[in-house]
Amino acid sequence: MWKKHPKALSYLFFSEMWERFGYYLMIGIFTLYLKDVKAGYAMTEKESADLYGTYIALVFLTPFLGGLLGDRYLGYSKSIILGGLMMSFGYCLMSIHNLTMLYIAMTLVIVGNGFFKPNMSTLLGNVYSVPEHLHQKDEGYNIFYMGINLGGFICNFISAALYITYGWGYAFIAAGIGMLLGVIIYIIGLKHYRMYDVKKAMAPGDMPFSRIVLLILVPSVIAGVLGWMIPGDWFGSDSTDAFIFACIPLFYFYGNIYTKAEKSEKKPIMVLLTIFVVVILFWAVFKQNGSALNTWADRYTNREVDGTTQKVFDNLILAQKVTYQKDSVALYDDQFRLQKANGIVTKEFNYPVYFKNVAPEKLPAEGEQVSLWATNLSQSINPGWVIALTPVVISFFAWRRRKKKEPSTATKIAFGLLISAFSALVMVTAVYMGNNGSEKVSVLWLIGSYGVITLGELLLSPMGLSIVSKLSPTRIASLMMGGWFVSTAIGNKLSGVLATMWDRYDQKANYFWLNFVLLLVAASLGFILLRWWNRVMNEKGIK
Ligand code: GLN
Repeated sequence: MWKKHPKALSYLFFSEMWERFGYYLMIGIFTLYLKDVKAGYAMTEKESADLYGTYIALVFLTPFLGGLLGDRYLGYSKSIILGGLMMSFGYCLMSIHNLTMLYIAMTLVIVGNGFFKPNMSTLLGNVYSVPEHLHQKDEGYNIFYMGINLGGFICNFISAALYITYGWGYAFIAAGIGMLLGVIIYIIGLKHYRMYDVKKAMAPGDMPFSRIVLLILVPSVIAGVLGWMIPGDWFGSDSTDAFIFACIPLFYFYGNIYTKAEKSEKKPIMVLLTIFVVVILFWAVFKQNGSALNTWADRYTNREVDGTTQKVFDNLILAQKVTYQKDSVALYDDQFRLQKANGIVTKEFNYPVYFKNVAPEKLPAEGEQVSLWATNLSQSINPGWVIALTPVVISFFAWRRRKKKEPSTATKIAFGLLISAFSALVMVTAVYMGNNGSEKVSVLWLIGSYGVITLGELLLSPMGLSIVSKLSPTRIASLMMGGWFVSTAIGNKLSGVLATMWDRYDQKANYFWLNFVLLLVAASLGFILLRWWNRVMNEKGIK
């Protein structure tokens, strides 16, 4: 896959890989750590889910500002290095068990990602904007996306091993070290992309930074605080209210970019803005991987191992029949709640249990939730699929290209939406197979559903980066990339809102039917707009 691609790709690939290693490592254990009664903050399910949702929303909101600063003032490399160092420091700070420190650390990651992510994605596009590589841009982004997911895949195994053996702090430090490696790799490869890091002059209609702060940032913060404080929950919770209110000035800002743009820039900008709106629904369903799908994995999948003992880590073993020493073993059921802390020497369970050799004084209280080590491993299913499917997708399109029939980037996005919808149908079928949730079903249904949505994701997410790079006027490339991530942020927040509806549905099939309908609506919108999207691309002479 690497052959014939610019040298810069490999450095950006590994730099982003390590950045995402840190990001997804932290994401994978975040709520588990928050809920941990002893070593974490003993938060409830709802509190931790809310904080998590707000966090992943904010992380994708700041790229709007970071992109702007990168475009106009700092340049890409300075932004990337600064953002990377902030995140690295933030992850390390999380290893200190103190709530104030945690919030400071989260802020560092939120701001750091704002500097890092949009500028990295734009820079890659610039590398491919020279005539000899222009036709490889989609493929370049597909490979880059594989780097993202390579990091997202391995991180969970490393963090599981670290926090089970040494504790949460070590896992967070590993995230920080990973991020630092990303920065170092970026610096080593600088000579391959220095020439693409040029600051853009402002156009006559562009808002100067001081006005943006005054007209957008300040009102955003005020609106957010107001949204939080107004009595009642307009959109479900205080944090959702705050988020939606804070976004309003941002919508105004992107609208303003459109109205003030030159005539020739207007159509491409409008295409991008409509794509941003449609894909919100995709992220709203996709990002349930960290919430509803995890709950599904925990409660509705059958993960029995037929009475055999399977060694997972040195001190954590999955078994159905257990022989243990009185008073020295903790047994957890398959939802990791403590079942028994002492008692009979040999016992056979009708479900697999996890047991751990621990000193009696360290045993948690009966019924207490303990660390869900396996949950974070299920976060590797989606990145695993990305790694497996990317070569397939790349070869497919390379073959279509040879036949001169490669679909446009916009067409890929529309199909991505459609394919994703079918992943919800896989889940609906799984529910029916388990007699509407009364029986557990094979974990393969979940893995299958992830496979389908990942195929959709591969046609949509890296292609979103690619189309932003192709269509946005160069002077605001990172700012538009920020816009792409703002739509992710809104989708992320919405995914949390959808997930809170989980308990409201007795019939779990209806929950997944809802996801299906949402994605079908998005796909229909996509196909309705597709002809116009393609026409505008053609007018610009790009595919
Ligand atoms: N896995 C992708 C990434 O981290 C998802 C991007 C997104 O949420 N927009 O880059």
